[in-house]
Amino acid sequence: MTDIDRRHWLRSGVALAAGAAAGCASPKPEPSVAPVATNANTLFDVPRPAVPIVGSTVVFPVRRIYCIGRNYAAHSREMGSDPTREPPFFFQKPSDAVQPVPIGRTIDHPYPSLTKNYHYELELVAALESGGRDIPVARALDCVHGYAVGLDMTRRDLQRAMGDQKKPWEIGKSFDHAAPIGPIHPVGEVGHFTKGAIVLKVNGVVKQSADLSQMIWSVAEQIANLSQAFELFPGDIIYSGTPENVGPVVVGDVMLGHIDGLPDISVKVV
Ligand code: MN
Repeated sequence: MTDIDRRHWLRSGVALAAGAAAGCASPKPEPSVAPVATNANTLFDVPRPAVPIVGSTVVFPVRRIYCIGRNYAAHSREMGSDPTREPPFFFQKPSDAVQPVPIGRTIDHPYPSLTKNYHYELELVAALESGGRDIPVARALDCVHGYAVGLDMTRRDLQRAMGDQKKPWEIGKSFDHAAPIGPIHPVGEVGHFTKGAIVLKVNGVVKQSADLSQMIWSVAEQIANLSQAFELFPGDIIYSGTPENVGPVVVGDVMLGHIDGLPDISVKVV
């Protein structure tokens, strides 16, 4: 452990194992989780991303954003894949990519840098209040606190270019404001979602129109599968994939996202 590491750990308030502090050859293992910052012991404040919860004065803190790829057969085909052969795959966006969208208002969403082909992907989002590893499908939905309407905004030209070069397509998916999201609706009020229309309009014209029942992997299966790769925690949210007919928006366009059972979200590209 370097002096800088030690100062960091000391500042974090995490007690050092005696062996590690002394540089002992067989130190006790250090905690496997990162130290938790509080306002009292950090060098500066870092905002914690959060999403409003309908009917509540408390907000939902976002720990991680997981996104499932190619989860509707027709979208999988339009992206050049064979939906019958591919297991679910996942990527992440940074948690501070969330852009909360209040109900009943149109919010401004900045057209991002570097792209000339900026795409919408309308998705059902599941917000977790508990987690774990190797969660069975039958218990997976117990982890869900609620659901929201979300947009997995995508710099498609950059995503494709990186894919063509067999490089990570992070830059196409994981940028500032890349995850507009409506408020979270608790399961107790809206239930779980296995079917229902999912419709995206741009300037009043229907662009995406499908049914949640067409998901290849259900939300429960997504949680179970994700939990084999990552330990899930309260605060994780899962963008559950988009149906077919993704497409571009330009400055001035207004996207209206609808999922049966949840209020619409309205987002203007500026
Ligand atoms: Mn997506």
